[in-house]
Amino acid sequence: MLCFSYWAELANRQLRIMPELISFLKKNEINNKVVQVAHRISSDYQHQELVLIGVLKGAFIFLSDLMRHLGIPVKIDFVGVSSYGSGTSSTGTIKLIKKIDIDLTNRDVLVVEDIVDTGLTLAYIVDYLKTLNPKTIKVCALLDKYERREAAIKIDYACHRVAEGFLVGYGLDYNENYRELPEIYRLKL
Ligand code: 5GP
Repeated sequence: MLCFSYWAELANRQLRIMPELISFLKKNEINNKVVQVAHRISSDYQHQELVLIGVLKGAFIFLSDLMRHLGIPVKIDFVGVSSYGSGTSSTGTIKLIKKIDIDLTNRDVLVVEDIVDTGLTLAYIVDYLKTLNPKTIKVCALLDKYERREAAIKIDYACHRVAEGFLVGYGLDYNENYRELPEIYRLKL
């Protein structure tokens, strides 16, 4: 039988290797920002049907909240790319891992992204979507992390701007952890 001190030591070790989470955006702050951006989008696309393209996996919670605050009809689909391997820095290589299933020809498309950092992922996705002949493409991001921007991309709707740091929660992960957290935290490694 394993003794108590073994479990105590294990728990201690787990605590020591868990990165610290520092509160960044509270539930009500996120909700207010999502509602505000949804109102802007709804008024810009009045009488139009919009296709929301969520970027997997991080944008799924943001997209589901956003679409429920839009007062206009929408269709949704998802695009999947791999740009970050594990950890907090990019692998530098972007690969398309899930294509769009619905027809975007002559449609108004809004890309819904969790966070834009260098902008290279978004630039890649927009280039891919352009090949599908939509009428218009705009971009909505939950977080515009602007300090390390490399690609010249326009974020038409941003809920919140932040200079730097690695953020998790509300769909955003660190090595596939923390997506389920209802608030957004800054990760201190
Ligand atoms: P970019 O190509 O703009 O440098 O990176 C975009 C992607 O990197 C995002 O879709 C997201 O998956 C990931 N990413 C960039 N910054 C962060 C961050 O602060 N937190 C998390 N969880 N992912 C990030």
